Amino acid sequence: MIYDYLIVRFGELTLKGKNRNKFIDRLYVTVKEKLKPFPQLKLKRHFDDIEIQLNNEPIQQVTDVLTKIFGIQTIRAAIKVENDLESIKQGALKIIKSEEANIKTFKISAKRKNKKFPTGSDELNRTLGGHILTNTEDIKVDVHQPDINLRVEVMEHETRIYGKDFKGAGGLPAGSSGKVLLMLSGGIDSPVAGYLMQKRGAVLEAIHFHSPPYTNERARQKVIDLTEKLNDFGGQVKLHIVPFTDIQIQIRDKMPDNYRMTMMRRMMLRIAEKLAEKRGALAIATGESLGQVASQTLESMNTINEVTNLPVLRPLLTMDKVEIIDIAHKINTYDISIRPYEDCCTLFLPSAPKTKPNREHANKFEIDFPINELIQEAIDGIETIDLREQNNKTSLMDELL
Ligand code: ATP
Ligand code: MG
Repeated sequence: MIYDYLIVRFGELTLKGKNRNKFIDRLYVTVKEKLKPFPQLKLKRHFDDIEIQLNNEPIQQVTDVLTKIFGIQTIRAAIKVENDLESIKQGALKIIKSEEANIKTFKISAKRKNKKFPTGSDELNRTLGGHILTNTEDIKVDVHQPDINLRVEVMEHETRIYGKDFKGAGGLPAGSSGKVLLMLSGGIDSPVAGYLMQKRGAVLEAIHFHSPPYTNERARQKVIDLTEKLNDFGGQVKLHIVPFTDIQIQIRDKMPDNYRMTMMRRMMLRIAEKLAEKRGALAIATGESLGQVASQTLESMNTINEVTNLPVLRPLLTMDKVEIIDIAHKINTYDISIRPYEDCCTLFLPSAPKTKPNREHANKFEIDFPINELIQEAIDGIETIDLREQNNKTSLMDELL
């Protein structure tokens, strides 16, 4: 392997003014935590980037971890050489040689940050370009669309030469947007919604409603597995499992058929709100997409949303199912989501629920419904699963929240 370093460049962070430092701190902590499985790495935080010295750790595996971390724009593989022209020429040629089989064109982008260095940026471009052309065959310069853009940065004490680029995940670092409670079912949509919230810096806790014995251990395990996948993209996600059987039975017995689904959703949202308050989450997120199913019409959302004042975030609202499925594949939740399972939501529901419920009717049907007792009972029965404890991991993220 010819590269000794990976240089992690930040994304939108540069735009964030005063918060910049805090954001970089968070990103640094996340990077450090996620790279724990590679003990030989040495990390250094700079103003513009995080420098990772590889010390023979496998570059591909390390970049695989880094490309999943939000807040990172690019990861560049680099070498460091001494601040003298001869070493820089040798280094540049070494990188090009290692890529020679895969490229036809190149470009040099030299930056002399250290003004004491005697050769200016333009002259460096020309000298290095010339050196590479003389020492290779079949490779040409293309300044517009080169196969490789060889960046050279002459710094205070050393020069960095960058070869391969890896595209980062973009977004904001974990923890920069506070906590959100994700309503996580076993379906395709809600894990994707969680991932997109993590992309904008939210730290997640998840709430799942289950109805034993109508939903079984498999359904539970599925949600645990989905939560574990989401852990890849941010801090550790705590999962709260709420017993929902009693509420569903009461709804079946006391509510008109075509309002059962609306009532069930209102109860779910009320419980989620209570738990969000308890856990310090400022918003609730769902996997709803406008018009996808009966419960996701505007009328339905309007009627369901009435029961909470918390923002209900719906990152999938405007997406088509194919777009959602694409992301589910990308984040490796799809195969888990399509495992067969019993969904508590379909339990006791008529085949054609009302697509246009309204608040007035919903409120009328709830007049004699023991809402508060049922909520309290559900909250008291919550089982919280902390996968980190199970895996015996410690989290630096917690210190930041
Ligand atoms: P998903 O693919 O996420 O299951 P869906 O297309 O099946 O969504 P619905 O069943 O209408 O749609 O659920 C809408 C949203 O309500 C889900 O995305 C999820 O956020 C939440 N939700 C549904 N069922 C549950 C549950 N059992 N526990 C927690 N949240 C749920
Ligand atoms: Mg579902």
